[in-house]
Amino acid sequence: MNPLRSIILAAAKNGAIRTAVATAPVSRDVVRRFVAGETTAEAVAVTRRLAEDGLTATLDYLGEDTTDAALAEATVLAYEELLSALHDQGLSDRAEVSVKLTAVGQLLDEELALANARRICRAAEAAGTTVTLDMEDHTTTDSTLRILAELRSTWPWVGAVLQSYLHRTLDDARALASSGSRVRLCKGAYAEPESVAFDAGQETDLSYVRCVNALLAGDGYPMFATHDPRLVRIITERAEAHGRKPGSFEFQMLYGIRPEEQRRLAQLGHTVRVYVPYGGEWYGYLMRRLAERPANTTFFLRALATRN
Ligand SMILES: Cc1cc2nc3c(=O)[nH]c(=O)nc-3n(C[C@H](O)[C@H](O)[C@H](O)COP(=O)(O)OP(=O)(O)OC[C@H]3O[C@@H](n4cnc5c(N)ncnc54)[C@H](O)[C@@H]3O)c2cc1C
Repeated sequence: MNPLRSIILAAAKNGAIRTAVATAPVSRDVVRRFVAGETTAEAVAVTRRLAEDGLTATLDYLGEDTTDAALAEATVLAYEELLSALHDQGLSDRAEVSVKLTAVGQLLDEELALANARRICRAAEAAGTTVTLDMEDHTTTDSTLRILAELRSTWPWVGAVLQSYLHRTLDDARALASSGSRVRLCKGAYAEPESVAFDAGQETDLSYVRCVNALLAGDGYPMFATHDPRLVRIITERAEAHGRKPGSFEFQMLYGIRPEEQRRLAQLGHTVRVYVPYGGEWYGYLMRRLAERPANTTFFLRALATRN
């Protein structure tokens, strides 16, 4: 892994750095580049703007690694409120939700996380939309796939996420490439040991392409999450080779990253879904975005230095 990336991801776990960054006056402005806002109303407003540009959304109420059942409960309530607002505003055919299981109690108790995820799925069903379970660090992968299987027995539309940097992922992709199965493929954003993950560079990209082929060859609905221009080109070519028409798979990108490319792909007739995070707990999310791109880090550190 790139040393700068490991340093930033390690800093993300450090309480003192967290307090310094989270309370710096400039942070809020920088955060706004990647985060839609703190409230349901702001998240819905961003969804509407994206819809006007021909884009769809998956909304993430920020939070993770919760070890407090009351916080997990607050997260469920936030999703219920959001889903009802999307329905009331006629946006549930344009937007779904992404859920981190560690935000709804996975680190406390798998059964609690499952029960909370069920409540979110029920609310999504009532709103007429879907849920995707984000994938977090590798220690949670098996538990997340178990919860996914449970949820899919009631709601087959619940989406999974696979990370191409993990050695195991091609097997998971083959196992999940079945009819009706929604699978988001990404490279992976956590600091992982060599024993389970490829290097962040070429090996992860090659694994990504192998998984693209496995997902396109199956009967499921692949969701390709990447900003990488080379991978976008390869996905487009491989989709054609597999006889996949636009609409039988989708592209996904993060809010604030390559917005012109998002619109370009939508104009070509592709479904493009933008991952829109919102809420007050933006710290871990922002640190992963900075770790991905040194240019963002320089921008962020310069802004911190000049305002303090
Ligand atoms: C919709 C979505 C959902 C995700 N969900 C998860 C999840 O559940 N679990 C998880 O671990 N990770 C998730 N991720 C994050 C993902 O794993 C990667 O960390 C992240 O997407 C960066 O990888 P990349 O494929 O964009 O390629 P990178 O290797 O980061 O970037 C490749 C190239 O993309 C271009 N690029 C990247 N950023 C920019 C930019 N800001 N401006 C211009 N060009 C840029 C550059 O050309 C760069 O060289 C998600 C990502 C997306 C898009």
